[in-house]
Amino acid sequence: MANQQWQCAYSAGNSLEAHSLKGLLENTGISVRLTGEALAAAAGELPMSVVEVQLWVTGMQRQQALVVIDGYLRNDYRDWYCGCCGEVNQGQFELCWQCQHDRDE
Ligand SMILES: [Zn+2]
Repeated sequence: MANQQWQCAYSAGNSLEAHSLKGLLENTGISVRLTGEALAAAAGELPMSVVEVQLWVTGMQRQQALVVIDGYLRNDYRDWYCGCCGEVNQGQFELCWQCQHDRDE
């Protein structure tokens, strides 16, 4: 079945991003495999921080994974700084809790 085959869902710019996304996806019940990382580490040529890492998911869960990844890329899961008062707000909030200023893109 094509749906059970592993497909590349996203290519992360570095290991940290890949692992953040992997954690998010696994929290929503999606199985994730990373590629690129081990290979580069074995080669010992590049620092981990600049290695491109691919996230693979099964065809069955790919659509769901893309939604999570898309949300991540739009900063939904990241803390943000209010452009008005500089307060740190959690990713799920659209307004600054301190001054009610809109979240800037
Ligand atoms: Zn604010």
